[in-house]
Amino acid sequence: MSELVLWPDPRLKEVCAEVPEDTNCSEIIATMLRVKQDERGLGISAPQIGEMLRIIVVEDLVMINPRIVKRSEQMTWAQEGCLSFPATCPKYSKDGQFMRAGNTIRVRRHKLVKVEGFDRDWQPIVVKGRDWKGVCLQHEIDHLDGITLDNYRKQYLL
Ligand SMILES: [Zn+2]
Repeated sequence: MSELVLWPDPRLKEVCAEVPEDTNCSEIIATMLRVKQDERGLGISAPQIGEMLRIIVVEDLVMINPRIVKRSEQMTWAQEGCLSFPATCPKYSKDGQFMRAGNTIRVRRHKLVKVEGFDRDWQPIVVKGRDWKGVCLQHEIDHLDGITLDNYRKQYLL
């Protein structure tokens, strides 16, 4: 069973706390990776599994306390889906057959972001994300501040 937190759960609107340095986050990270894989997501944030902490995963990249330190002036339009809004994600049958594309939301994003944070061993890391990876980083970091796709589309229809 997935522990995925779905909109409009109020936890998705909370600002998450910084993780105190050297906290062992391995259990939370393992759950995030499992749920992301089960749901075929590109990324996931800790509040989406009900952990109100600043942790994100983008593909295989795990970041604790991520902070955007630089944003390009150049912007891009992204078509985004979110695991907490199932209608925006592609749908698969029980045996894994593709059923339909997700009803994605159009979001204006910075084309390139530079993000500082820590890896799961509390080593400082700096990541530059451009295009879809930058979009994904911005989307997941939004979650840590209680910002979700409905912020970008006021009359969201599930
Ligand atoms: Zn999301």
